Amino acid sequence: MDEIKDGPRTRDDAGTRGSRGRAALILFALVFAASLFGIYTRPIGFLANLWPANAIMLAFLLRVPAGRTWQGWLAGAVAYLAADLLTGASLPKALLLNSANLAGIATAAAIYARRPADMIRLRQPASMLFLVLTVAAGAAVAGVIGAVANPWLFGRQLLSGWSFWFATEFVNYVTILPLLLAAPSFGALPGAMREGLRALPTARILPIVALALSCLLAAIVGGPGAIAFPVPALLWCGLTYRVFTVAILTLLYGNWALIVLASRTGVDAEMMMISIRLGAALVAIAPVTVACIAENRNELLGRLRPIAAHDHLTGTRARGAFLDDVQASLANARAPAAILMIDIDHFKAINDNHGHAAGDRLLQSFAGRVRSCLRDGDHFGRMGGEEFAIFLPATNRAVASRIAAGILGALRDDPFEVDDDRAITLTASIGIALIDGSSPPAPESLFAAADEALYRAKGAGRDRVEVARHDPVALAG
Ligand code: GH3
Ligand code: MG
Ligand code: MG
Repeated sequence: MDEIKDGPRTRDDAGTRGSRGRAALILFALVFAASLFGIYTRPIGFLANLWPANAIMLAFLLRVPAGRTWQGWLAGAVAYLAADLLTGASLPKALLLNSANLAGIATAAAIYARRPADMIRLRQPASMLFLVLTVAAGAAVAGVIGAVANPWLFGRQLLSGWSFWFATEFVNYVTILPLLLAAPSFGALPGAMREGLRALPTARILPIVALALSCLLAAIVGGPGAIAFPVPALLWCGLTYRVFTVAILTLLYGNWALIVLASRTGVDAEMMMISIRLGAALVAIAPVTVACIAENRNELLGRLRPIAAHDHLTGTRARGAFLDDVQASLANARAPAAILMIDIDHFKAINDNHGHAAGDRLLQSFAGRVRSCLRDGDHFGRMGGEEFAIFLPATNRAVASRIAAGILGALRDDPFEVDDDRAITLTASIGIALIDGSSPPAPESLFAAADEALYRAKGAGRDRVEVARHDPVALAG
């Protein structure tokens, strides 16, 4: 018994253990490689203090839940130590420096804990500002350990040690972390690349061209203001591209600023480079924030558009969207077509007798019944109240009349349930206006003609179809 009960749980546990082990292994490899990169680029003048390992470990912990375990932390810590020890650092020095790294990461990870995924993945307007404040806190905590280590390791004073440490940590996080958090996940990578390649021919390249030109101009003009020359182009990029692309561009901009502007600065090169990197990182916050807001807004609009285009009660097209559909069809088509206006008969009495809620349900069922009489490609919209309209593309008079008669027949044949023990038969009146297809008619005259036919159908006793008297050709123009 017990064995049977325990069976699946044991397999689940093994699976979880496996994914945790795998995550820890990947984290070890990433942190180890990034630490070696940081150590080996340290002597190259203009890349001094380029240290991506902390941002990589933080991003991994934030994005991969299986990495947030004691095994993950241990793997990270061992990777830092191994890289330092293998490149000749003493154990006390390696322990001290890497405890600063880990303390910064732990602080930022704790602040990020239980934040929604949208906030972490830079999909909310405030995401970038939250990131900046969080990594500032992480950098400040790392700076405290760094400041303690500094007098001993590098002969610096406490305060200058702290500010140096804080600035380099902060800059590294702010330039690298947005890229890592906004990057598509491994699973989504092939799809994202395919989509990117497909969009490439129509991609807007002017913002990137403007960015390149303003960087060039800044390099030519020089001076302390040059770091801000690319700001307008960066903002344009922020409005145009996705957060991930903007994060790449700002990283490139930061390195450009460092290489071009630092090469012209003078004496106190180290502080000057930190100042430039800090300036570039702070400048880069604005375009990434703009991209977060723009992407968030576009996604919201994408979700709202279909809602706004549909009538929420009946699911038919909303009036405005329906009129747009008709206009677009008329502009493109050169074939005959028809408009049907449908108004439910005596609906007020139905509301009065059965209540408004029952009326609402009847409207929904009515729309479903009408829809079942239509073909793919026909447009069905609610004009208001109990009045609907149908646009029938590529349809002549005979077919339009047949469809209209089919709708009335479908209503008549089968009563609608009002509640559990009552059903009523709905009838409607329909007016048809025809388009001959020689030239697109003005939609207003078309709807007016269909309305006129509808009112004749009402006047003639309801539950019937009338066709507009106008010769279809007379509608043209
Ligand atoms: P006729 O045959 O001449 O069209 O008569 P009618 O009663 O259908 O027309 P009238 O324009 O006098 O009344 C339409 C009614 O439709 C009045 C209104 O309360 C009802 N109505 C409009 N929109 C809704 C709705 O969304 N839900 C419900 N339950 N009733 C609605
Ligand atoms: Mg009516
Ligand atoms: Mg009406």
